[in-house]
Amino acid sequence: MAEPVSPQLLFADQLGPHFDNGGPLIVVDNRGVFARRTMHRQKAHVILSALYHRIAEWGDRAEVLVSSSYREALRGRNFSVINPTSWGLRRMIAELQSDATIEVLPSRGFVTEEDQFQAWAEHRKPSQMVMESFYRDVRVREGILMVPDPADSQRLAPEGGEFNFDKDNREPPPKGRDTLGVPEPWWPEEDDIDRWVRTELDDMVARGEARFIGDDGPRVFAATRDEALHALEDFVRHRLTDFGPYEDAAMPGDWVMAHSLLSVPMNLGLLHPREVIDRVIEEFREGRAPLNSVEGVVRQIAGWRDWVWHLYWHMGEDYVERSNYFGHTEHLPQAFAELDPDAIQSNCVKSVLAEIRTRGWSHHINRLMVLGNHLLQRRIDPAELNRWFIDAFVDGTPWVMPANVVGMSQYADGGGVATKPYLSGGAYLKKMTQYCAGCPFRPDVRVGDNACPFTAGYWAFLDDHREKLRNNHRMFKPLAGLSRLSDLEQVRVQEAARRSW
Ligand SMILES: Cc1cc2nc3c(=O)[nH]c(=O)nc-3n(C[C@H](O)[C@H](O)[C@H](O)COP(=O)(O)OP(=O)(O)OC[C@H]3O[C@@H](n4cnc5c(N)ncnc54)[C@H](O)[C@@H]3O)c2cc1C
Ligand code: SF4
Repeated sequence: MAEPVSPQLLFADQLGPHFDNGGPLIVVDNRGVFARRTMHRQKAHVILSALYHRIAEWGDRAEVLVSSSYREALRGRNFSVINPTSWGLRRMIAELQSDATIEVLPSRGFVTEEDQFQAWAEHRKPSQMVMESFYRDVRVREGILMVPDPADSQRLAPEGGEFNFDKDNREPPPKGRDTLGVPEPWWPEEDDIDRWVRTELDDMVARGEARFIGDDGPRVFAATRDEALHALEDFVRHRLTDFGPYEDAAMPGDWVMAHSLLSVPMNLGLLHPREVIDRVIEEFREGRAPLNSVEGVVRQIAGWRDWVWHLYWHMGEDYVERSNYFGHTEHLPQAFAELDPDAIQSNCVKSVLAEIRTRGWSHHINRLMVLGNHLLQRRIDPAELNRWFIDAFVDGTPWVMPANVVGMSQYADGGGVATKPYLSGGAYLKKMTQYCAGCPFRPDVRVGDNACPFTAGYWAFLDDHREKLRNNHRMFKPLAGLSRLSDLEQVRVQEAARRSW
């Protein structure tokens, strides 16, 4: 096979050994990104920190171009590049190819390849395009958590006889406790590169070249390969066992719960997702972690993470702009745009917004069932929300958001990604979280000064959109409940007038 064109261009999310082909490198420190977007301070920090830690490791192998645009830095240069992770960057590379020799190699950093997904999707009707079926196919094809079938040793069967242990993974927070009680995670130690990054960001702000939201460090997420491996070990040893059961729970006193904190190093390309999968399976094989937790992690990574990556390309470049099933046009409230939890009364939303302000991160159930649910009920324009999630979260990337935010949390594609809107009232949050105890609203109250905005908002939403939901069989029961509501008119009036929550 011919050697790839040299040098190799590496982007800031291609930092692990599995991206490095071994020859001379070009790296662009594109400061224009910080000028064009108002992002979380800690997101800018972790990106620059990871990039410059890696540049220090590469030494003379890497030519570093500091620029305000990739086009400006790279025009006329010949190089090879692993296909980048956004529509915008792929378009930019295609443009540069008109006056240079640029070899584009297949993308890396996911469990499955783009052409494998295309082949899988080709023969499926839209109704068969569901994550569960993709995930099972990946498990079988890649032999992940598969063992000889006891009934027929020529065949493989899923470990434990099932592909899915979600039924074991729905524990509410343990009663009488403020935290899960697992050990405090390992945290990286900042070094001279972090101190330099901090000064650079301060200077950019002082010169008016960037504006950030959220609090400054200390840096919480892994930004080097060594740190990423350390974080993985820490998760596997101390939190993996509890990951499954408490996956869907939230406790305001425990912002990490039993989550891995690995999305940042995986999205920066420092860890290969397959490494994480292999490591958690090893822990199961050694008898140190239960199957429901291990399968839960495998599902999140080989299932959800790969699924949203492939959907990003499959749904097309205009997916976000064309998806607004409910016709929502409200702008994002200032409290969200500026990460100001004090402007919010609801304890659930306030607590999650405070976590995002402090670290640019909150766990999955907070993103989906608190933020996504609240913002769906507030009828925010899904494209605006998609941009906010990318900028406000340290692990936010263009490819991860559309399926998660527009498809899953806002149901803005009318059912392409999710089979029903992820919508709930306060009863669900009361059961699965501990937020309601410290809230001025009451989850079981629908009308009145202390009516929970989620409970009342849930019914007002169903009422507004009943026509659009009528044909979805998963919404029959909620819509039947709506038709029995004795105080619907009061809910309507109250929620139409609601200006704070
Ligand atoms: C509205 C919304 C916004 C989200 N924004 C992001 C984001 O900006 N970046 C991001 O990487 N993930 C995002 N997710 C997915 C998921 O919430 C995060 O990956 C997870 O919370 C990161 O924390 P963790 O590494 O501790 O994950 P864990 O809970 O420990 O899960 C393990 C890994 O599984 C993967 N994963 C799990 N669920 C998903 C998913 N739905 N999509 C993609 N990967 C998944 C991640 O790589 C994660 O690191 C979002 C989900 C929703 C509903
Ligand atoms: S009562 Fe409602 S608003 Fe308050 S924390 Fe519970 S769900 Fe959130």
